[in-house]
Amino acid sequence: MQKKSTVYVSYRLPDEWISDLKKHCNLILHKKEGTIPSRRKFLANSKKADGVLAILNEKIDEDFFRTNPNLKIVANYAVGYDNIDLKAAKKYNVAVSNTPGNLAGAVAEQAMLFILACSKRLVAGDKFMRAKKYKFWDPLLLLGHDVRGKTLGIVGTGRIGSQLAQMAVAGLGMKVLYFDPYPNKEIENKWGARKADLKRLLKESDFVSLHVPLLPSTRHLIGKKELGLMKKTAYIVNTARGPVIDEKALVQALKSKKIAGAGLDVYEFEPKMAPGLRKLNNVILTPHIASATYAAREEMAQIAVQNILDVLVRGKKPRNEVM
Ligand code: NAD
Repeated sequence: MQKKSTVYVSYRLPDEWISDLKKHCNLILHKKEGTIPSRRKFLANSKKADGVLAILNEKIDEDFFRTNPNLKIVANYAVGYDNIDLKAAKKYNVAVSNTPGNLAGAVAEQAMLFILACSKRLVAGDKFMRAKKYKFWDPLLLLGHDVRGKTLGIVGTGRIGSQLAQMAVAGLGMKVLYFDPYPNKEIENKWGARKADLKRLLKESDFVSLHVPLLPSTRHLIGKKELGLMKKTAYIVNTARGPVIDEKALVQALKSKKIAGAGLDVYEFEPKMAPGLRKLNNVILTPHIASATYAAREEMAQIAVQNILDVLVRGKKPRNEVM
């Protein structure tokens, strides 16, 4: 009988999410729930494995690949894979996969949540109640803005951006402008979305939502100059990757009210935040939870598992290989 491969799962996921992996491989499991391994432990355990199921906190660089001669696959438990040096993976002949799937809907919902929460002052209202400030029905208390009929600028219209376009138009009667190197005929035809260059999108949108991968071309795609093009009444939402926005410039724009506000799920130097960000009350902050639904996170685990089995058991390329 063929010897079972060994897989290191670097985060404690529910057993039933990885049961297929258990059936076919020997597992090295990170034991303690809600914690991540030290760098030393991560490297030591990876060395014993043919495959690694990794979360995006792990920096998977040239050093990692050089010291793991047996490794055949790294299955990233995320859609984005900017934590992995793909060139080095190729050099050392290690396959890399990600987890695209239904989580796109969960992330689009989070972007829409930010849009609604920003415009309807949700967090300010909650704080107001908890501070026992509600004394009478005040016609001028915490006024916000309607979303219906407003323009949403979507930067990056792949899986997530496209779902957001549908929610915005079908659900809220918004107009959609989009910026992407590739035309997206589906959202143009179905939802009346119009392609624009970034400058026009920033100038004309009431909400700007970012859905691009982190690449050299998208790092600081939104900086001081771009924030300066936005309307004073506009909001920016980032559920993509932190470094797509120059966070220092964003703090300045929010402080000086150059834009109305922001909703952020990701941060440039995650988990740290730029100085001053958390003191501002025109920003809503969440801890990288856009895909955090039970269904999405379970599906992500199952996608990662199948990618590992593709390589280690079926002897094929991983179905969600990234290059
Ligand atoms: P996708 O690959 O389906 O779509 C990305 C789109 O961005 C593509 O249409 C691509 O053409 C476009 N694009 C690339 N470079 C661009 C540029 N310079 N300017 C404008 N558009 C550009 O990816 P997706 O599944 O929609 O996910 C997008 C990103 O969202 C992921 O790469 C990931 O970093 C992030 N994400 C975050 C969370 C979270 O929990 N916050 C969850 C999932 C994904």
